[in-house]
Amino acid sequence: MRLKLAIQKSGRLHDDSMKLLKESGIDIGNGVNKLKADATNFPLDLFFLRDDDIPQYVEDGVADIGFVGENVVYEKAKKVEVAYELGFGKCRLSFAVNKNESFTGSSFLAGKKIATSYPVLVQNYLNKNNIKAEIHEISGSVEIAPGIGLADVVCDLVSSGSTLFMNGLKEAETILHSQAVLIKKAGLDKEAAQILERLLFRIESVKKAKRNKYVLLNAPNANLDKIISLLPGMKSPTVVALATPGWSSVHSVIDESDFWEIIEQLKLAGAEGILVVPIEKMIL
Ligand code: ATP
Ligand code: ZN
Repeated sequence: MRLKLAIQKSGRLHDDSMKLLKESGIDIGNGVNKLKADATNFPLDLFFLRDDDIPQYVEDGVADIGFVGENVVYEKAKKVEVAYELGFGKCRLSFAVNKNESFTGSSFLAGKKIATSYPVLVQNYLNKNNIKAEIHEISGSVEIAPGIGLADVVCDLVSSGSTLFMNGLKEAETILHSQAVLIKKAGLDKEAAQILERLLFRIESVKKAKRNKYVLLNAPNANLDKIISLLPGMKSPTVVALATPGWSSVHSVIDESDFWEIIEQLKLAGAEGILVVPIEKMIL
Protein backbone atom coordinates (compact mmCIF):
# COMPACT_ATOMS: atom_id res chain seq x y z
CA MET A 1 0.00 0.00 0.00
CA ARG A 2 1.29 3.46 -0.95
CA LEU A 3 -0.17 6.87 -0.20
CA LYS A 4 -0.88 9.08 -3.22
CA LEU A 5 -0.04 12.78 -2.79
CA ALA A 6 -1.02 15.49 -5.30
CA ILE A 7 1.14 18.61 -5.43
CA GLN A 8 1.32 21.59 -7.78
CA LYS A 9 3.23 20.75 -10.96
CA SER A 10 4.80 24.19 -11.23
CA GLY A 11 4.04 27.54 -9.68
CA ARG A 12 4.24 29.18 -6.30
CA LEU A 13 3.61 26.09 -4.18
CA HIS A 14 5.78 23.59 -6.07
CA ASP A 15 9.22 24.33 -4.65
CA ASP A 16 8.09 24.63 -1.03
CA SER A 17 6.12 21.38 -1.34
CA MET A 18 9.16 19.51 -2.67
CA LYS A 19 11.41 21.10 -0.04
CA LEU A 20 9.12 20.04 2.80
CA LEU A 21 9.16 16.44 1.56
CA LYS A 22 12.94 16.51 1.27
CA GLU A 23 13.33 17.93 4.78
CA SER A 24 11.01 15.17 5.98
CA GLY A 25 13.58 12.68 4.70
CA ILE A 26 11.56 11.63 1.68
CA ASP A 27 13.60 11.06 -1.49
CA ILE A 28 11.78 11.45 -4.78
CA GLY A 29 13.11 9.20 -7.52
CA ASN A 30 12.56 10.29 -11.10
CA GLY A 31 12.23 13.87 -12.31
CA VAL A 32 9.35 16.22 -11.76
CA ASN A 33 8.67 16.75 -15.45
CA LYS A 34 6.46 13.71 -15.49
CA LEU A 35 2.92 13.40 -14.20
CA LYS A 36 4.02 11.02 -11.44
CA ALA A 37 7.09 10.28 -9.33
CA ASP A 38 7.66 7.76 -6.54
CA ALA A 39 9.41 8.18 -3.21
CA THR A 40 12.25 5.67 -2.97
CA ASN A 41 12.39 5.39 0.83
CA PHE A 42 8.78 5.99 1.95
CA PRO A 43 5.44 4.54 0.75
CA LEU A 44 4.43 7.72 -1.10
CA ASP A 45 3.64 8.40 -4.78
CA LEU A 46 3.55 11.96 -6.08
CA PHE A 47 1.19 13.34 -8.72
CA PHE A 48 2.05 16.70 -10.27
CA LEU A 49 -1.11 18.63 -11.15
CA ARG A 50 -2.52 22.13 -11.64
CA ASP A 51 -3.43 23.46 -8.22
CA ASP A 52 -7.05 24.08 -9.28
CA ASP A 53 -7.52 20.37 -10.03
CA ILE A 54 -6.12 19.04 -6.75
CA PRO A 55 -9.33 19.19 -4.62
CA GLN A 56 -11.26 17.29 -7.32
CA TYR A 57 -8.59 14.56 -7.61
CA VAL A 58 -8.56 14.15 -3.83
CA GLU A 59 -12.36 14.02 -3.62
CA ASP A 60 -12.39 11.34 -6.33
CA GLY A 61 -9.62 9.37 -4.61
CA VAL A 62 -7.25 9.58 -7.58
CA ALA A 63 -4.97 11.04 -4.90
CA ASP A 64 -5.43 10.31 -1.16
CA ILE A 65 -4.02 13.65 -0.04
CA GLY A 66 -2.89 16.93 -1.56
CA PHE A 67 -0.89 20.07 -0.80
CA VAL A 68 -2.89 23.10 -1.98
CA GLY A 69 -3.78 26.68 -1.01
CA GLU A 70 -6.78 27.13 1.28
CA ASN A 71 -8.10 29.68 -1.23
CA VAL A 72 -8.43 26.89 -3.82
CA VAL A 73 -9.90 24.43 -1.29
CA TYR A 74 -12.69 26.82 -0.27
CA GLU A 75 -13.33 28.08 -3.82
CA LYS A 76 -13.75 24.55 -5.19
CA ALA A 77 -15.80 23.40 -2.18
CA LYS A 78 -15.14 19.69 -2.81
CA LYS A 79 -15.69 16.95 -0.24
CA VAL A 80 -12.19 16.94 1.24
CA GLU A 81 -10.91 17.54 4.76
CA VAL A 82 -8.23 20.07 5.71
CA ALA A 83 -5.92 17.95 7.86
CA TYR A 84 -2.92 20.19 8.48
CA GLU A 85 -1.65 23.76 7.96
CA LEU A 86 1.67 23.56 6.14
CA GLY A 87 2.87 27.09 6.94
CA PHE A 88 3.99 28.18 3.45
CA GLY A 89 2.23 29.86 0.50
CA LYS A 90 0.80 32.55 2.75
CA CYS A 91 -1.33 35.17 1.01
CA ARG A 92 -4.71 36.85 1.31
CA LEU A 93 -7.68 37.27 -0.97
CA SER A 94 -8.53 40.95 -1.05
CA PHE A 95 -10.63 43.48 -2.89
CA ALA A 96 -8.57 46.18 -4.54
CA VAL A 97 -9.74 49.47 -6.00
CA ASN A 98 -8.21 52.26 -8.05
CA LYS A 99 -5.65 54.02 -5.86
CA ASN A 100 -7.53 57.34 -6.06
CA GLU A 101 -10.83 55.82 -5.02
CA SER A 102 -11.96 55.91 -1.40
CA PHE A 103 -13.24 52.53 -0.29
CA THR A 104 -15.98 53.06 2.25
CA GLY A 105 -16.58 49.46 3.29
CA SER A 106 -18.53 46.62 1.74
CA SER A 107 -21.36 48.90 0.55
CA PHE A 108 -18.87 50.44 -1.90
CA LEU A 109 -19.18 47.22 -3.93
CA ALA A 110 -22.92 47.57 -4.58
CA GLY A 111 -23.61 47.64 -8.32
CA LYS A 112 -19.91 47.42 -9.20
CA LYS A 113 -18.24 45.08 -11.71
CA ILE A 114 -15.80 42.84 -9.85
CA ALA A 115 -13.09 40.88 -11.70
CA THR A 116 -11.82 37.78 -9.89
CA SER A 117 -10.59 34.20 -10.25
CA TYR A 118 -12.55 33.36 -7.08
CA PRO A 119 -16.24 33.84 -7.98
CA VAL A 120 -17.52 31.49 -5.28
CA LEU A 121 -15.64 33.17 -2.43
CA VAL A 122 -16.58 36.65 -3.70
CA GLN A 123 -20.25 35.70 -4.08
CA ASN A 124 -20.27 34.25 -0.54
CA TYR A 125 -18.87 37.54 0.75
CA LEU A 126 -21.47 39.58 -1.16
CA ASN A 127 -24.31 37.37 0.09
CA LYS A 128 -23.10 37.64 3.66
CA ASN A 129 -23.10 41.44 3.38
CA ASN A 130 -26.36 41.60 1.44
CA ILE A 131 -24.79 43.29 -1.55
CA LYS A 132 -25.59 42.88 -5.22
CA ALA A 133 -22.71 43.25 -7.65
CA GLU A 134 -21.63 41.81 -10.98
CA ILE A 135 -18.84 39.21 -10.90
CA HIS A 136 -16.59 38.70 -13.93
CA GLU A 137 -14.62 35.49 -13.64
CA ILE A 138 -11.19 35.69 -15.24
CA SER A 139 -8.48 33.09 -14.82
CA GLY A 140 -5.31 35.19 -14.74
CA SER A 141 -3.89 38.74 -14.64
CA VAL A 142 -6.95 39.97 -12.77
CA GLU A 143 -5.12 43.13 -11.77
CA ILE A 144 -5.21 44.57 -15.30
CA ALA A 145 -9.03 44.41 -15.51
CA PRO A 146 -9.74 47.96 -14.20
CA GLY A 147 -7.11 49.48 -16.50
CA ILE A 148 -8.74 48.04 -19.61
CA GLY A 149 -12.26 48.92 -18.49
CA LEU A 150 -13.37 45.37 -17.75
CA ALA A 151 -14.14 45.98 -14.09
CA ASP A 152 -14.34 48.64 -11.37
CA VAL A 153 -12.93 46.47 -8.62
CA VAL A 154 -10.79 43.32 -8.44
CA CYS A 155 -10.67 40.57 -5.85
CA ASP A 156 -7.32 38.82 -6.07
CA LEU A 157 -4.55 37.10 -4.12
CA VAL A 158 -2.04 39.46 -2.54
CA SER A 159 1.16 38.83 -0.64
CA SER A 160 3.38 41.93 -0.83
CA GLY A 161 0.90 44.12 -2.69
CA SER A 162 3.49 45.14 -5.31
CA THR A 163 1.47 43.74 -8.25
CA LEU A 164 -1.51 45.86 -7.21
CA PHE A 165 0.68 48.90 -6.76
CA MET A 166 2.23 48.52 -10.21
CA ASN A 167 -1.25 48.48 -11.70
CA GLY A 168 -2.41 51.63 -9.92
CA LEU A 169 -4.57 49.72 -7.43
CA LYS A 170 -4.69 49.64 -3.65
CA GLU A 171 -5.82 46.88 -1.33
CA ALA A 172 -9.20 47.71 0.20
CA GLU A 173 -10.52 44.75 2.17
CA THR A 174 -9.36 41.18 2.86
CA ILE A 175 -11.92 38.41 2.66
CA LEU A 176 -9.69 35.37 3.31
CA HIS A 177 -6.26 34.66 4.80
CA SER A 178 -4.73 31.63 3.14
CA GLN A 179 -1.77 29.27 3.32
CA ALA A 180 -0.93 25.89 1.86
CA VAL A 181 -2.72 23.05 3.64
CA LEU A 182 -2.70 19.28 3.50
CA ILE A 183 -6.10 18.01 2.41
CA LYS A 184 -7.24 14.41 2.60
CA LYS A 185 -10.09 12.53 1.05
CA ALA A 186 -13.05 11.73 3.26
CA GLY A 187 -12.94 8.21 4.68
CA LEU A 188 -9.28 7.41 4.09
CA ASP A 189 -8.78 3.67 4.67
CA LYS A 190 -6.87 2.44 7.69
CA GLU A 191 -3.58 1.65 5.99
CA ALA A 192 -3.50 4.98 4.13
CA ALA A 193 -4.35 6.80 7.37
CA GLN A 194 -1.38 5.14 9.08
CA ILE A 195 1.01 6.28 6.36
CA LEU A 196 -0.46 9.78 6.56
CA GLU A 197 0.14 9.79 10.30
CA ARG A 198 3.81 8.87 9.75
CA LEU A 199 4.11 11.64 7.15
CA LEU A 200 2.47 14.22 9.43
CA PHE A 201 4.75 13.23 12.31
CA ARG A 202 7.76 14.01 10.11
CA ILE A 203 6.31 17.27 8.78
CA GLU A 204 5.48 18.39 12.32
CA SER A 205 9.07 17.66 13.45
CA VAL A 206 10.45 19.77 10.60
CA LYS A 207 8.05 22.63 11.34
CA LYS A 208 8.77 22.56 15.08
CA ALA A 209 12.49 22.59 14.43
CA LYS A 210 12.13 25.68 12.23
CA ARG A 211 10.22 27.51 14.95
CA ASN A 212 12.90 26.78 17.53
CA LYS A 213 16.59 27.50 18.08
CA TYR A 214 19.18 25.77 20.21
CA VAL A 215 20.92 28.26 22.49
CA LEU A 216 24.23 27.80 24.33
CA LEU A 217 25.60 30.43 26.69
CA ASN A 218 28.01 30.98 29.54
CA ALA A 219 26.70 32.26 32.86
CA PRO A 220 28.19 33.23 36.20
CA ASN A 221 26.88 30.72 38.78
CA ALA A 222 25.56 33.58 40.93
CA ASN A 223 23.02 34.39 38.16
CA LEU A 224 22.13 30.83 37.18
CA ASP A 225 18.68 30.79 38.79
CA LYS A 226 17.66 33.98 36.99
CA ILE A 227 18.99 32.71 33.64
CA ILE A 228 17.35 29.30 34.02
CA SER A 229 14.02 30.97 34.74
CA LEU A 230 14.29 32.75 31.38
CA LEU A 231 14.92 29.48 29.50
CA PRO A 232 12.11 26.97 29.59
CA GLY A 233 13.82 24.30 27.43
CA MET A 234 12.07 21.12 26.35
CA LYS A 235 12.14 19.78 29.91
CA SER A 236 14.58 22.09 31.64
CA PRO A 237 17.89 23.57 30.48
CA THR A 238 21.12 21.55 30.60
CA VAL A 239 23.74 23.08 32.93
CA VAL A 240 27.39 21.99 32.72
CA ALA A 241 30.27 23.38 34.78
CA LEU A 242 32.92 25.32 32.82
CA ALA A 243 36.63 24.81 33.47
CA THR A 244 36.70 28.36 34.87
CA PRO A 245 35.47 28.17 38.49
CA GLY A 246 32.20 29.99 39.21
CA TRP A 247 30.91 29.69 35.61
CA SER A 248 28.53 27.30 33.86
CA SER A 249 27.47 26.57 30.32
CA VAL A 250 23.68 26.54 29.84
CA HIS A 251 21.97 24.85 26.86
CA SER A 252 18.32 25.18 25.92
CA VAL A 253 15.73 25.44 23.14
CA ILE A 254 13.82 28.67 22.58
CA ASP A 255 10.89 29.57 20.41
CA GLU A 256 11.31 31.98 17.49
CA SER A 257 8.32 34.07 18.55
CA ASP A 258 9.96 35.47 21.69
CA PHE A 259 13.55 34.90 20.59
CA TRP A 260 14.95 38.46 20.69
CA GLU A 261 13.19 39.35 23.91
CA ILE A 262 14.72 36.34 25.66
CA ILE A 263 18.19 37.04 24.26
CA GLU A 264 18.04 40.63 25.57
CA GLN A 265 16.96 39.48 29.01
CA LEU A 266 19.69 36.83 29.06
CA LYS A 267 22.32 39.49 28.35
CA LEU A 268 20.92 41.68 31.10
CA ALA A 269 21.13 38.70 33.45
CA GLY A 270 24.86 38.37 32.74
CA ALA A 271 24.92 35.70 30.02
CA GLU A 272 28.00 35.77 27.78
CA GLY A 273 29.17 34.02 24.64
CA ILE A 274 25.64 33.30 23.47
CA LEU A 275 25.51 30.87 20.52
CA VAL A 276 22.30 30.29 18.59
CA VAL A 277 22.18 27.15 16.46
CA PRO A 278 19.48 25.97 14.03
CA ILE A 279 17.73 22.71 14.81
CA GLU A 280 17.26 20.24 11.99
CA LYS A 281 14.56 18.00 13.45
CA MET A 282 12.68 18.14 16.73
CA ILE A 283 11.04 14.97 18.08
CA LEU A 284 9.13 15.46 21.30
P1 ATP B 1 -1.50 26.41 -11.76
O1 ATP B 1 -0.74 26.42 -13.04
O2 ATP B 1 -1.09 25.26 -10.89
O3 ATP B 1 -2.98 26.54 -11.93
P2 ATP B 1 -1.69 29.12 -10.66
O4 ATP B 1 -1.16 30.11 -11.62
O5 ATP B 1 -3.16 28.96 -10.47
O6 ATP B 1 -0.97 27.70 -10.97
P3 ATP B 1 0.13 30.14 -8.60
O7 ATP B 1 0.22 31.57 -9.00
O8 ATP B 1 1.31 29.27 -8.79
O9 ATP B 1 -1.17 29.42 -9.20
O10 ATP B 1 -0.31 30.14 -7.06
C1 ATP B 1 -0.55 28.96 -6.38
C2 ATP B 1 -1.00 29.28 -4.98
O11 ATP B 1 0.02 30.00 -4.29
C3 ATP B 1 -2.21 30.18 -4.84
O12 ATP B 1 -3.43 29.48 -5.04
C4 ATP B 1 -2.07 30.67 -3.41
O13 ATP B 1 -2.58 29.70 -2.50
C5 ATP B 1 -0.56 30.75 -3.23
N1 ATP B 1 -0.01 32.14 -3.22
C6 ATP B 1 0.83 32.65 -2.30
N2 ATP B 1 1.13 33.93 -2.54
C7 ATP B 1 0.48 34.28 -3.64
C8 ATP B 1 0.39 35.51 -4.42
N3 ATP B 1 1.03 36.62 -4.09
N4 ATP B 1 -0.36 35.47 -5.54
C9 ATP B 1 -0.98 34.35 -5.92
N5 ATP B 1 -0.93 33.18 -5.22
C10 ATP B 1 -0.23 33.14 -4.09
ZN1 ZN C 1 -4.24 27.48 -10.68
